[in-house]
Parts: sequence; structure tokens; C-alpha cells
Amino acid sequence: MSRTQPLPPELSQAWPELRFTHQVSAVEWRSECPQCGSVGHDSRTGLPDRFFMRTDGKPRGKCRSCGYFAFADAVMGRKWTPEEHAEWVKRQQDYDKMVSEKLSKAITWLKERKAWLKYHENLTEEGREWWHKKGVKDHSISSHFLGWEQSRRIYTGKDSYYMSPTATVPVFDWNYEIVNVRHRVVKPQNSDDKYRPERALLPSSLFPTDPNAGDDTPVILVEGEIKAIVIAQYIDEPGVHVVGVPGKRNLNETILAPLEKSSSIVIGFDPDAYEHADLAAELLGRERCKIASFPDKPDDLFVDSGMTTADFWFIISQAKRA
Ligand SMILES: [Zn+2]
Repeated sequence: MSRTQPLPPELSQAWPELRFTHQVSAVEWRSECPQCGSVGHDSRTGLPDRFFMRTDGKPRGKCRSCGYFAFADAVMGRKWTPEEHAEWVKRQQDYDKMVSEKLSKAITWLKERKAWLKYHENLTEEGREWWHKKGVKDHSISSHFLGWEQSRRIYTGKDSYYMSPTATVPVFDWNYEIVNVRHRVVKPQNSDDKYRPERALLPSSLFPTDPNAGDDTPVILVEGEIKAIVIAQYIDEPGVHVVGVPGKRNLNETILAPLEKSSSIVIGFDPDAYEHADLAAELLGRERCKIASFPDKPDDLFVDSGMTTADFWFIISQAKRA
């Protein structure tokens, strides 16, 4: 299973054995721990998050499980014994097997249970009102099977949780296969932590507002499923495909792979996310990307500030080469 993004050289020379590396910001990577082997995974993204590496200042890494801490330059050239290496390989294989079994069980369960239909049927008046406030109209609620769960446990750690209603968005891939149901926490304890997957380990994926859109349809890439739905609904333009990323901190080559063949992509992230937009362009290939600068969150501009579609297209036309 490929979930990796290469480390920059100052880190990879120190820890060449790391396999599940992924980037979380311009200066920050995470992976399994090179010392204790602990993998762990982020409850939201399912990605390994035990070993935190940073390149701002002196490149370094720290494990959240065993406390191992090292500066990258201090461990360069470290040699492994054959026994250590064999044990390492075994641990990696066991982990791969465990993850792929759990993942395939979770996907089978999702397909059989069709949870998104239940949430769609359970959409209460309160829920419909919440979607309307977000700018989502009834026809979009129906066509995207948006739903509601009145009371869901939102885990904030292994054993700690709180209850909240959630608004649900089924995520289909480009073949109309269900890949996840995203829960937007309606009363989040932390405004930076508002999403949960239907089940842990279900992968974070792009959200195509129109899985039938061909590879040659120009793409506008925005932050999140709800934003994608609102923008697609307001612009109502079948010649453009609005696609949502599952979160600006959650970008990597695997997640962006479905856009491999798109020749024209405008990245329209929120105004505070320029760094992430730039990272998206880097991962997608700068030659086919432009970055648009919205003065505010693009869905809010439509819903709260009366932006017209002409205003929207003007901003898109001003997008700059990334
Ligand atoms: Zn460790």
C-alpha cells in the first residue's frame, strides 16, 4: 500500500529505513518510529503519526511513543546489524498485512451497510436547516445523498470522546464506488478538528462533485467536500469539474492521484492556505496548475457576500501560474 511521500534529503539520510513517511506542512513530516517501530495512526487520516520530523531550524525527529529524540546530523551513517534489519522488515510486513486486512474489511462493511443512505433518510429538519445555512440547496442534498447523524461519538483520543450531531457526505470515487462517508462535526470542541471518517482507516480521498467528468474537463480544486458542493451548485457549469481535497493538511501524491490525467487545474483554496495550495501544485506538477486568490472562503463569498458567478469567473481568470 502506497501512502508515502519522500523525505527531504536532510531527513532521509538520517532515517533511510522509514517507509510510511508523509508530509503535513512545508517543514514537517511524520512516519513510524525508527527506534521503537511504533506506527500508530492519526484517527482522522489513518496515516502513521508516531515520529515527528521537522526541518525548520536544525532537522530533527521525535517519537511520541518511546520519546526517542535525535538531530538528523547526529544519526547519519548509523549501521544496522543484520538481525536488527530482519526484525525491522518483519515488523513492516506485519503492519502492511494488518492495515490492508482492516482496510478491506472496512470497505466491505461500508458497501454492505450503505450507511450513507441511512444518514440521508434520517436528515431531520434541524439537519436540513444546517445544510441550508452552509449554502447547500435541496437539489444538492438529494443528488449527493447528504445526511445527518443526530448523536455521534467523536473520539478525541483512544478513550476520550464527546457527542455531537454530524452532517454526512458520502465520498464516491471516479467509478462511483463508495470509498468513505465523511462526518462533519456540527458542534466541534476544537474548530481545527471537525471531520471524522465513517470508520478509522477508511482512506481520505478526493471528492469529485461529478464522478462522470472526463479527464479533459478543467478542474477547480477546493478545500473540502462541502465547499466543492456549494461552488459546483452556484457555478452550475458542467464544463468544469469542482473537486474537493479532504483537508489542506492532508495532501499527498496518493490522495491526488485521480487527477493524474487532468491537464488544467486551478487551485482555489482559502486565503489562509497559500502554502498548502503551493504544496498541492508541487505534488500535482506545476506546469498544469494555477492558483486563484479568493478574498475570503469561496463558498462564504457566494453564500454570505453575494458573489456572482461572473465575479467568481473573474477571480478564476486571474489565477497565477503556480
Ligand atoms: Zn519510538
